[in-house]
Amino acid sequence: MAAQKNSPKIRALVAGNWKMNGSKKDLSELRKLVTAMKPTKSGGQVKAEVMICPPATLLPRMADVKAKGIALGGQDCHANINGAHTGDISAEMLKEAGAKAVIIGHSERRADHNESDKIVRAKVEAAHRAGLMAIMCVGESLKQRKAGETLKVVQGQLRGSLPDGCTAKNTVIAYEPVWAIGSGLTPSVEQVGEVHAALRKALIRRFGDEGAKTRILYGGSVKPANAEELMAVPHVNGALVGGASLKAQDFYGILKAYL
Ligand code: PEP
Repeated sequence: MAAQKNSPKIRALVAGNWKMNGSKKDLSELRKLVTAMKPTKSGGQVKAEVMICPPATLLPRMADVKAKGIALGGQDCHANINGAHTGDISAEMLKEAGAKAVIIGHSERRADHNESDKIVRAKVEAAHRAGLMAIMCVGESLKQRKAGETLKVVQGQLRGSLPDGCTAKNTVIAYEPVWAIGSGLTPSVEQVGEVHAALRKALIRRFGDEGAKTRILYGGSVKPANAEELMAVPHVNGALVGGASLKAQDFYGILKAYL
């Protein structure tokens, strides 16, 4: 199966989430990625949009790669523009530091920081206010999957976490089963297909044509060995990649699904 790269309407996005990893010395991985992505005579050019979401401290240091075809994103933002919120960062600050997008509602934020759908929704609004694309994450726990609640859970998160006014330009959805993140486990292609189809339906119902064009990424233990198969599932418009985005060789191995 070929990755869904030829859709006339939707350009895939492959975004790397570095989480709380990476320092100055890891900038060399980014240079290696830029080199690997250069079109060669024999190989093609990666057709997906490529993005790295490093810790915010590295964003300004990565400014130069933007010109080389790699977009930058943040990993979270506060709902407010500024104020007494020690340790937080606003969407406007991320934008000024070079981000084009921000991940919001990652399951690690939902779990570690008790982020409810209401909080996630306020952050998505903040991203839109700042002119950033929100990459909003949904996903079920293993317990919820075993209980047959997957669709109900992700549809509920989608409904509660997206504000009105979402468009294909300002919003991306990432379906990330919590049990697949960092575990080496992945759902079957049928399971991924079922969830993505349900999310697409819900997006169209609420946002019409914009919902039909909104990218829905799959995330959770994507690696070079399974990328081609997962990216070929209908309504999978790219990937959100954690561990495998830290090394240029692994990340490029995933991007190859879009050559
Ligand atoms: C993630 O945390 O967004 C993620 C997909 O992680 P991993 O690829 O390591 O499972």
